[in-house]
Parts: sequence; C-alpha cells; structure tokens
Amino acid sequence: MPTYNLLLLPGDGIGPEVMAEVRKLIAWMNSHGMGTFATEEGLCGGCAYDAHGVAVTDEVVEKAKAADAVIFGSVGGPKWDKVPYEHRPEAGLLRLRKDLQLYANLRPAVTYPALADASSLKRELVEGLDIMILRELTGGVYFGEPKTITDLGNGQKRAVDTQVYDTYEIERIARVAFELARKRRNKVTSMEKRNVMKTGVLWNEVVGQVHAREFKDVQLEHVLADAGAMQLVRNPKQFDVIVTDNLFGDMLSDVAAMLTGSLGMLASASLGEVDPKTKKRRALYEPVHGSAPDIAGKGIANPIAMIASFAMALRYSFGMIRETDLIEAAIAAALAQGLRTADIASAGMQTIGTAAMGDAIIGEMEKLAA
Ligand code: NAD
Repeated sequence: MPTYNLLLLPGDGIGPEVMAEVRKLIAWMNSHGMGTFATEEGLCGGCAYDAHGVAVTDEVVEKAKAADAVIFGSVGGPKWDKVPYEHRPEAGLLRLRKDLQLYANLRPAVTYPALADASSLKRELVEGLDIMILRELTGGVYFGEPKTITDLGNGQKRAVDTQVYDTYEIERIARVAFELARKRRNKVTSMEKRNVMKTGVLWNEVVGQVHAREFKDVQLEHVLADAGAMQLVRNPKQFDVIVTDNLFGDMLSDVAAMLTGSLGMLASASLGEVDPKTKKRRALYEPVHGSAPDIAGKGIANPIAMIASFAMALRYSFGMIRETDLIEAAIAAALAQGLRTADIASAGMQTIGTAAMGDAIIGEMEKLAA
C-alpha cells in the first residue's frame, strides 16, 4: 500500500475544530489497514499572520507543492479585519491556489436522502441529486487585464474588468470535465454566453473540439449560462457534470450548493496539472464554508463538509473508490439515524456537536466495514 503524504492546514475559526475530525478519521483508517497516510501540519490564514506576519510562508507553500494532497480547513475572521490587504487571511489561500496552479474547481452538489427536506426546493426535485459543477478557477474576468478604475475628469469614473480566455485554458478544463463524466453518468453540459460574448464563442468551439477529438463517447450539450441557471432550479437532476468559466461558475456553484440545504455539508476540490515526471496532480481539498466566527470555539460546527472534502481527496487524488464510498455511506447512515449538528437540526432529531458527529461517522464506518 503506498504512503500518501498529506499537508493539513486547519486555518482559523472552526477550521481546527472540523480538521480534528479528519485527523481522527485518518488515524482510524491507518489503524484499520485502509490506507497509509503520513500527515504534516502547517499554518495558513490569520493564524499564520499572527505567527509570521504573512498569511502563508514560503515554507508552507513548498510543503503544499511537495504533498500528495493539501487538506484545508478555513481562514479568516474579524480579528484580522484591519491587517494590511496583502496579508489578509484569504491571501494565504489565494496564493496556494495560484502557486499550485489549481485551475479546476470541483463542487459536488449531493443531497443526502435524510436531508432532502432542508432544500429550498421540493423534495422530489432534489432527492437523489448528485451533480458536479466544474468551475475554471485561474482565468477569466477575475484575473484578466486591464482591470482598472479611471477618473474621467468630468465627475465620472470608468471601471473595466477584462474577460479573457486562451485556447489551452479551455482545453484543460474541458478535459477534466469529460474525464469526470466518464466516471459518473457520462454527460457534460457546457455553459457560457456564446450569444453575446466572444469568450463564449471560443469556449463553445474549444469544448466542442476537445469532445470531437478525445471524448466522443461522452454526451455533450451546450446550454447558455442564464438558461442553465434556470434549469438548475427547475430540474437539477437532468445534469451530471456542468463545466463553466470562473465568473459563471462562481454563481452557478452557489446556486447548486443551496439545492442541498446547508453550507456545513458542502465539499470541494481544486485540481492542477498532472506533473509529467511524477504523474501526480497537485490538489487542495476544502469545505465550501468559511471560518464561521459566530460559532467558533463552541464545538458545534458541522464537520461533514470537511470530512467529505477529505473523502474527495481519496477519490480524486488516490483513486481509493471503495474507501470514499465507505465514508460517504457512513455520513448518510449517521444522518439517517437522526443525528444532526445545529446547522441542520430539525424537529424530532438529535442535535449533537462536532466531535460527536465525527465519532458517529467513524462508528458507522466500523459497522459498514465489518
Ligand atoms: P461562513 O461560511 O464562515 O459562515 C456563514 C454561516 O454559515 C455562519 O452563520 C456560520 O455559522 C455557518 N456555517 C458555516 N460553516 C458551518 C459549519 N461547518 N457548521 C455549522 N455552521 C456553519 O461565511 P462568512 O460568515 O461569510 O465568513 C466568515 C469568515 O470566513 C470571513 O472571514 C470570510 O472571509 C471567511 N471565508 C473563508 C473561506 C475559506 O476559507 N475558503 C470561505 C468563505 C469565507
């Protein structure tokens, strides 16, 4: 069994509390012959600023590059509201994404049967939902130049953002989409605005070319991003993998997230290129939620998003499908038993804290693996 090196970056607020549950799970898996994980820990975010005056040190960035996967908690909080902009806690995460060139952001939207009523949509629309939003993360309008605000001198200002994509950026994200689809229900929906944006025209063309050249076996459809947003709340189960640019992905992934009920349940992965020498793909796994300063230190945060993010590392970095399925089934079983953290509490269910939920999930794994 290979040894996988994980860099754990718990971060701030509830980050360390939910990461503690992943640490427990890793220890359990190591002691039950379900993998050999070696872990190192580091600081990122406000905690790194307090210790070193920067949101992430070069040393931690190098460790992240060398690791087989980075498991990230959450950063930020009111304590660091006044630190210089370039040292704000989020700058640590942004630097990791940039230096590791994590261009593909995977956000699954999965509704656990026991939580179907927590969605803002009707149960029948979301029950059994399992879709994947794939967002391009390092290009597009958030990074394109020029990006300016100019004073026009007549009491007016002009703000400019630039939406820009090169062929290679679209090709590589399209490939990730088709590869993901092959391991799921074999369908990719590409969303852009080819009717009004040149980047949309190129996006549409390049995704189509990659499909025709390399992935003819996968079903591909093109949907305009605005129509796609409507379909996402009208009939979300029609989708499998949705691939889209940075801006549309930012919004569509948040819409899809809410179909599933709670922020405390949502996992994500950010993937980079496969290194031709080592054949390893750089990767960072993190819950979608932030550091939740309002509940930090109370032991009541939901650890499921963090645990599900670790499960994504097993699936996408290590190909440990059986173990991933086991963790996901254990989460579903703990919920089916009626156990809830405060954020997903409902009448008639038992409300428990962070550590008790982590223990319950491991308990279900014990039963399922027996
Ligand atoms: P948030 O996600 O931290 O919290 C939003 C709400 O959801 C809060 O009421 C919180 O209590 C609740 N919540 C979030 N995660 C939960 C969990 N696991 N269990 C139970 N409840 C949970 O977003 P915010 O309040 O807008 O931001 C707080 C801080 O986190 C800010 O400093 C922000 O910049 C930062 N942030 C960091 C990341 C990240 O690290 N990737 C992402 C988003 C926000």
